[in-house]
Amino acid sequence: MAEVLVYVDHVDGAVRKPTLELLTLARRIGDPVAVALGNGAGETASVLAEHGAVKVYTHEAAEYADYLVVPKVDALQAAVTAVSPAAVLVPSSAEGKEIAARLALRIKSGIITDAVDLEAGENGPVATQSVFAASFTTKTRVSTGTPVITVKPNSAAVEAAAAAGAVEALTVSFSEAATGTKVTSRTPRESTGRPELTEAAIVVSGGRGVNGAENFAVIEALADSLGAAVGASRAAVDAGWYPHSNQVGQTGKSVSPQLYIANGISGAIQHRAGMQTSKTIVAVNKDAEAPIFDLVDYGVVGDLFDVVPQLTEEVKTR
Ligand code: FAD
Repeated sequence: MAEVLVYVDHVDGAVRKPTLELLTLARRIGDPVAVALGNGAGETASVLAEHGAVKVYTHEAAEYADYLVVPKVDALQAAVTAVSPAAVLVPSSAEGKEIAARLALRIKSGIITDAVDLEAGENGPVATQSVFAASFTTKTRVSTGTPVITVKPNSAAVEAAAAAGAVEALTVSFSEAATGTKVTSRTPRESTGRPELTEAAIVVSGGRGVNGAENFAVIEALADSLGAAVGASRAAVDAGWYPHSNQVGQTGKSVSPQLYIANGISGAIQHRAGMQTSKTIVAVNKDAEAPIFDLVDYGVVGDLFDVVPQLTEEVKTR
């Protein structure tokens, strides 16, 4: 069976969920071979094997932390040369997309970004994308070189599958460009204790209907009862009620959780662009004609200040 390279997103050896999702998808098109780089890379092997990695290439070097993405591109290119894979899968984070784009250019291959599904095809892997502000769903295939595909978080359920997970050190020689941009300092964002918006299984969002920064406490309470991330519409962000880093939509983040709960959000096309691929969509809106109701699986017509606290209390009792 063909091998499929999976770029491992991890923090000091703790593998992040989108990588485990990639392993699930990779198994549909071949045998997953994982590439883990940087501090703690060796510690990723067991969890990767438990999720189907037949082999784990590791390489630890200070360059991965000290410089921007080029050292990682060098390493992935070395892995492509070693394996001649059927595809390279990378999580669709900002960094992942930059790595993928640079790699595709290096190996003269086509790239597909923000896939939401992946299947085996007669002439190579076929990716599903949601395009033009989620107005169309397309099936795409790379016709040149080794397909490089970035996949949005939450596109697949994580499935365990025991595999050999043989660990092998990757031989990497860094290019001149690798040390071109040095990281001079890092400022970790203050943690809210909530999951990362793009990776969360549940997102609870608020819009103009929330009517004030202080009222976002109602949205946050529901989010916390569900272990969810908090999102916001651009109207709420532009009004200064919530940070831009939480904006969902065309000019914000794109999310694809198992459950998306939109509160006081009308459902403008630019908002839908960032959440339409959510698996189950629930909306609370006091206007029964709001366009968001065309999209939802479950809709509640009502005042969010009545409905959301009741929902929060109900969730807490379970
Ligand atoms: P509104 O459209 O004003 O809707 C508020 C809703 O709340 C209404 O449906 C109302 O019935 C309901 N409501 C009011 N009070 C209550 C209550 N007490 N209880 C329940 N319901 C209530 N928007 C984004 O969200 N993300 C983007 O990334 C984005 N990018 C954009 C890019 C461009 C180039 C442009 C032009 C626009 C973009 N927008 C984006 C803006 C978008 O067009 C909408 O203006 C915005 O999404 C509206 O936000 P909203 O739904 O919160 O507000």
